[in-house]
Amino acid sequence: MNAYDISLIAPCGMNCGICMAYLRDKNKCPGCRGCDADKPKTRIICKIKNCRNFHKGKIRYCFECKKFPCDNLKHLDKRYRTRYHMSMMENLEHIKESGIRKFVKQEKVRWACPVCKGIICVHTGHCHSCRKKIIRIEKSRKK
Ligand SMILES: [Zn+2]
Repeated sequence: MNAYDISLIAPCGMNCGICMAYLRDKNKCPGCRGCDADKPKTRIICKIKNCRNFHKGKIRYCFECKKFPCDNLKHLDKRYRTRYHMSMMENLEHIKESGIRKFVKQEKVRWACPVCKGIICVHTGHCHSCRKKIIRIEKSRKK
């Protein structure tokens, strides 16, 4: 599978191709737009992924929704901005402005390991190929 596939961009703007669950070898997640059957539980219960607007096929991305940005998306975005220095809302802005193809191209550059051109995992900050630490990820703060 191509890690920079258009179908790997989730409705919320998340690039599933750089997700820990997608990159791992065991119990690999096919991405939020993939089949539910072989998906880890956390993805199945995602409120955004299960939003009925997607299931009715009305919209493909959150910004097309009347409720955009809803609380679910805002919470997710805040969590990712704080912990992983990545913003779903920013991604969605890019997709809205330049289109999905251009966004995916930008993602390819953004998450390429400077050492081996492998994929940098957004959750661990490590390159998936050479395992080099690229991004410093903040430790989760207990509330
Ligand atoms: Zn690398």
